[in-house]
Amino acid sequence: MNAYQPQPAEQRFILLDVLRAPQQFATLPAHADFDGDLLVQVTDEAARFVGEVIAPLNREGDEVGAQWKADAVTMPPGFRDAYQAFWQAGWPSLACATEDGGQGLPTALKAMLYENLSAANHGWTMAPGLLHGAYECIKHHASPELKARYLAKVATGEWLATMCLTEPHAGSDLGLCRTKAVPLANDPEGRYALSGTKIFISGGEHDLTDNIVHLVLARLPDSPPGPKGLSLFLVPKFYEDGDGRRAGPPRARPAPSGGSEPHEVGSVGARERSEVVCERIEEKMGLHGSPTCVMRFDEAAAWIVGEPGKGLNAMFVMMNAARLHVGLQGIGLLDAAWQKADAYSKERRQMRAPGGTAKVGEADLIEEHPAMRRILDAQRAWIDAGRVVAYRTALELDILKHHGEATRRDLASRWCALVTPVLKSAWTDQAFHGASACLQVFGGHGYVREWGIEQIVRDARVAMIYEGTNEIQAIDLLLRKTLPDGGAALQQLLTDIGAELGHDEQALRVKNELTRFSAFLRDQLLPRATAKDAPADLPHWLADDFLRAQAMLLMAWAWARIGSTPGAEAARWQTSQAGFWRWVWPEFEMRLAMMESTLAG
Ligand SMILES: Cc1cc2nc3c(=O)[nH]c(=O)nc-3n(C[C@H](O)[C@H](O)[C@H](O)COP(=O)(O)OP(=O)(O)OC[C@H]3O[C@@H](n4cnc5c(N)ncnc54)[C@H](O)[C@@H]3O)c2cc1C
Repeated sequence: MNAYQPQPAEQRFILLDVLRAPQQFATLPAHADFDGDLLVQVTDEAARFVGEVIAPLNREGDEVGAQWKADAVTMPPGFRDAYQAFWQAGWPSLACATEDGGQGLPTALKAMLYENLSAANHGWTMAPGLLHGAYECIKHHASPELKARYLAKVATGEWLATMCLTEPHAGSDLGLCRTKAVPLANDPEGRYALSGTKIFISGGEHDLTDNIVHLVLARLPDSPPGPKGLSLFLVPKFYEDGDGRRAGPPRARPAPSGGSEPHEVGSVGARERSEVVCERIEEKMGLHGSPTCVMRFDEAAAWIVGEPGKGLNAMFVMMNAARLHVGLQGIGLLDAAWQKADAYSKERRQMRAPGGTAKVGEADLIEEHPAMRRILDAQRAWIDAGRVVAYRTALELDILKHHGEATRRDLASRWCALVTPVLKSAWTDQAFHGASACLQVFGGHGYVREWGIEQIVRDARVAMIYEGTNEIQAIDLLLRKTLPDGGAALQQLLTDIGAELGHDEQALRVKNELTRFSAFLRDQLLPRATAKDAPADLPHWLADDFLRAQAMLLMAWAWARIGSTPGAEAARWQTSQAGFWRWVWPEFEMRLAMMESTLAG
């Protein structure tokens, strides 16, 4: 079983050569000093850490899994030590601001790191995966006092964080959340008593860090129903000394279901355990190294983060970054599957291939059979183009944060709004389906555990579901971000990415396709979908095809960018590029045809 190996030189080719990142950094005062040498140093070291420390824990993490016992979760062997090494080396704080204890490096570096981590060990990576979002949330919305207590701990990763949104009856529709927050009487800190049950909480309980910071969506008394009635709260696993203890005298802490007697509020040295209980963890298809927890809040003393009723707004701060992160999981997992399949196809021999090199009575390598070559080349094309789209999104996030000109920040905001749902949805879909195709390269050997490819298929499946299901991403793109402005922002984006391309044959072909799609949007989709007599459900039937068509266009654009970059003449890039046009791009025509047929009624 070959373990995943990061390929930093290939990642850097995309970031430095294809996307010309240094020119972008030069326009940002926060990153103006960041040079290519430092990037090489950081990405090489990240690759070493991931390859030597994180990847080897993947198999055991899957087999042993996280274990729950009476409110405590033990992580798989090696996970805690690896996490301690991770935060002490400063990896979680890579892209956090220096004034918050971070290293202030570009988001693109973090993107490369998390792609590698997810590929190496998706289960382990779930733990730090939510940190940056929590950091942004606290940074932008918490009170100065709360920031003083929690921001640096979360920025550096000394404490891990959770996002507690989902409830048993409230998944995609968070407006149905029932967890309530009632002001605590006479609390000098102005806190609230938080009560309710959250499910599917990644890392709700574990032994990786000494404290856990929960960010929880809940409803204040008399708040309106629906999403506008939600507020965001922070409650830690332990209140630290001087960190605002729970109001009132210590009470008996309710036992977790399945546990024995109620236990006292725990005091560990100067710390006090909060009334947050992990009732159990889910048994699930994959991702066994990540505890997916049912969390019960029993009048837990919590601080409000941001304004009352603006809880979802506070979470939007981190939405694009979190969805980019999940898109990167897709790219990483697909790369891990491809690496295994590619290596296996270079060892295993079966039958003679048409045009193969085997003599009569001998067998060719699996990679020489066209049916297998096609699988490998198509996945490689998705991974390479995915990196262009994902790293570009990371660059735009930095521009959005740091650029001095409002007009440039607006362009970055448009890119993030329109491209992020496509990245999250299309590349997580492909991670699962592409990993399954890579499993096929192994024949029956892929279905058994030995080679580790079946774990990737199981682990990858969830990325299509969490952080907003892929259907919700498609609806977001078409119904919230395209139809309301008559397609203006998307049309402009298509024009702008076309203008980035040169005049070679591939670039002209892509420009032509961008123009064709623009015309389809203007002349067919928008007039039909927004007509007064159009059925209300019409855009909902189209949304998925619409998003997939965007994914194809973005990939075509990415290949035109790669194709015009010196160095892309190498066979490795040419093969992947040809794989895109032959085996991936034809889906564009299919999606257009499906939309046309839906519009025709
Ligand atoms: C391993 C794992 C980890 C998770 N981690 C976290 C976490 O850390 N924190 C957290 O808060 N949550 C977490 N979740 C929950 C996750 O975000 C939800 O599962 C997800 O939002 C979907 O909600 P649901 O499961 O209730 O499905 P539902 O919302 O019930 O949806 C069921 C199906 O209907 C579709 N659907 C729903 N509404 C629409 C619509 N309007 N149009 C079209 N289709 C629709 C969905 O796409 C889905 O396919 C996790 C889930 C898993 C499995």
